Amino acid sequence: MSAHPTIADTLEGTVDRHPDRDAIVYPRKEQRWTYAEFDERVNRLANALRDRGIEKGDRVATVLYNGSEMALTVYACAKIGAVFTPLNFRLPAGEIEYIVNDAEAEMVLFESATREAVEGARPSLETVSEYVFIDDDREDAAVPEYARGFYDLLESGTPERPDVRVDEDDVYAFIYTSGTTGRPKGVVHEHRNMVEHNLLCIAEMNLTRDDVGLSILPLYHCAELHCNLFARIHRGATNVIHHEFDPERALEAIEDHGVTILFAAPTAWNALSMAAAELNADVSSLRLGLYGAAPMPERVLENCMEQLCEDYVQAYGMTEIGPAGVFQPPEDQRSKQGSAGLPALNHRVRVVEPDADPDDEVEAGEIGEILISSPCVMREYWNRPEATAQSLREADGTTWYYTGDLGYRDDDGYLYVVDRKDDMIVSGGENVYPAEVEDVLFAHDAVDEAAVVGEPDEEWGERVVAYVVAENVDATALDEFVLESDRLADFKRPRAYYFVDELPKNPSGKIQKFKLREDEADVDPE
Ligand code: ATP
Ligand code: MG
Repeated sequence: MSAHPTIADTLEGTVDRHPDRDAIVYPRKEQRWTYAEFDERVNRLANALRDRGIEKGDRVATVLYNGSEMALTVYACAKIGAVFTPLNFRLPAGEIEYIVNDAEAEMVLFESATREAVEGARPSLETVSEYVFIDDDREDAAVPEYARGFYDLLESGTPERPDVRVDEDDVYAFIYTSGTTGRPKGVVHEHRNMVEHNLLCIAEMNLTRDDVGLSILPLYHCAELHCNLFARIHRGATNVIHHEFDPERALEAIEDHGVTILFAAPTAWNALSMAAAELNADVSSLRLGLYGAAPMPERVLENCMEQLCEDYVQAYGMTEIGPAGVFQPPEDQRSKQGSAGLPALNHRVRVVEPDADPDDEVEAGEIGEILISSPCVMREYWNRPEATAQSLREADGTTWYYTGDLGYRDDDGYLYVVDRKDDMIVSGGENVYPAEVEDVLFAHDAVDEAAVVGEPDEEWGERVVAYVVAENVDATALDEFVLESDRLADFKRPRAYYFVDELPKNPSGKIQKFKLREDEADVDPE
């Protein structure tokens, strides 16, 4: 072991302390492994990967739903210095092709649920020399002739620790961003960033070895992978893994496994609290809920407090910083509703004029771009020196990450996230934050979805327009509703409404406004 731990060392340290505690529970395959058993399997897989020609620095891509196999693969890669490259399991063939080729991956792991998309991409994946398929007893999971079975591969490996030196500043993973504002970018993370990130999450959530976590959000996203699985394995807690999110099954699992801690996006918390009200499940073991990706609406938070558990932590951040950089602890949930919280340990936050120098801070209450300095910040974007130079900038010996998010701090220093910088509209010299306009539109019963963007305008520079998915309502009625709400200044009022069947979204469900801006001429305004 080098002087500073790698991700593999965080697992091995736990094996030294708690070899017999449960590490992984995967009910779908009736698997339950102690830390010693998990580590032995990780070694086997790591050695098998080396036998198949995977070397330090090679990229190993996964197109997998949650499962014990995902946990085995990420730690196996860490042990041999291979670069773990998880892809969203909902990506269509064209997106898989883009990411696997961008990362120049050597190996792709997939399963029956992602087989069609991977096969669609396969003819164009020139760097891939080996496909590994998660086989099991089900009929639809027979191994395709061009692939190897995962469990065969696992058994073929020997159980000793692989003899590969991996250092803290070696690359641990390429984690692709969600692709909300453009093509996904490969975020290059080193081992040390993630070890720091583990410690931070352990501290912010007061994790103990007695905690039992349930992974229902996708492990391909760094929020579940790093904030939850990694932190728990580092600490020696137990990980129950669900293949995908189902509110009823999640509630049953809380009862069956004594789950103490759970991470979900606000929409999933909403579904959980509604299911809990109906099912009357015993969720008394749950001590802490974690949420992120968006603020939790007050009503949802209150329902969750009533139905599930008292305490919640919010995390704000992005793939580039690991992702958590700002936390809102349980004691601030009610008093600072809507806020993302305070900087995480060892993190600093600044709010500056968009794109300005890190010293150009705005006053409390004023909106600007959020900058974060963090020991967990990425090394770079893979193959994108310009994007890297734009988002990582030095000032007085500190590197600041330009998040591209807009927000403000209140007088107590609490951060409020307002919108994305790219989405801000400047109309007649006034700034319009689309999220504020969308909130008003959402309040109309007939509106299912709304996305507000700026459209070029000769007189005003840009004018505010709204794309809406709605039934039984027209532009005049929506305009009247906006006026009557009395919540928007006149320059924020949409000047046109486009009624569409659906909005372009990335596979995580975030609306891709850049596509609306490109396509705006295709729809007739009302
Ligand atoms: P891309 O960078 O490819 O456009 P993305 O930014 O959506 O995609 P992620 O790194 O998965 O990719 O998401 C990070 C973004 O999610 C943040 O920049 C922010 O806009 C939003 N976000 C994350 N947490 C919160 C939160 N607690 N509150 C509000 N917004 C959040
Ligand atoms: Mg982003």
